[in-house]
Amino acid sequence: MQQIAIFGGTFDPIHWGHLLIAQTALYQVPLEKVIWVPSLNPPHKKAALFEHRWEMLQLATRENPAFTVSLVETNRSGTSYAINTLIDLSTVYSNTHWYWIVGLDTFQTLPRWYRGHELAQMCDWLIAPRQLGGETIAQSELICKQVEQLLRKQSSTIRWQFLNIPLVGVSSSLIRKLCREHRSIRYLVPEPARSYITAHNLYSDKSE
Ligand code: ATP
Repeated sequence: MQQIAIFGGTFDPIHWGHLLIAQTALYQVPLEKVIWVPSLNPPHKKAALFEHRWEMLQLATRENPAFTVSLVETNRSGTSYAINTLIDLSTVYSNTHWYWIVGLDTFQTLPRWYRGHELAQMCDWLIAPRQLGGETIAQSELICKQVEQLLRKQSSTIRWQFLNIPLVGVSSSLIRKLCREHRSIRYLVPEPARSYITAHNLYSDKSE
């Protein structure tokens, strides 16, 4: 049975933190493949055009043969829900043990996701530590245990592990902010993504 992880996100834009997380997951588990799934219409977020986000992902991941960027979200209209993504990908990749890659901030919200308690037990969770408010690794573990308990109340069990990466302070919002302020994003995003942002004049709008 092959082992594949889904890495869902807005990727608005992709940054080095995302790449480090995916690469760590590949070797830590180990996985055959990481499928990057940019959301078409992310719930609760206004984002750059899907075409731009998808293209930047393509450019930034093309050197790694174990990375695939998926168009699965374009098959459905309306809001993108994670459980539908996993169901759709399962029809393409049979005989697969599934993993889901998330940052700690996103994992914390899992009990509130659409059919989150079902999705929780359909795959293993790979959690990237993320600084939420100065907490230590022990506190991050506590946060994950709280999520586990909440899900148990909904009769759901969950398997999770931390990804062994250093804390990375980069976020897409930071990149967008730097662009708005006409400051450099060099070494924060892969070069092809940086060139794409410049060429298409993305994130320069002051209105965000
Ligand atoms: P934004 O700043 O716009 O909220 P983001 O940097 O969190 O964006 P997303 O595309 O929303 O990027 O993230 C996709 C996934 O990657 C989420 O699960 C998020 O928690 C995780 N992630 C992103 N950046 C990091 C980081 N620096 N450390 C750990 N996890 C991260």
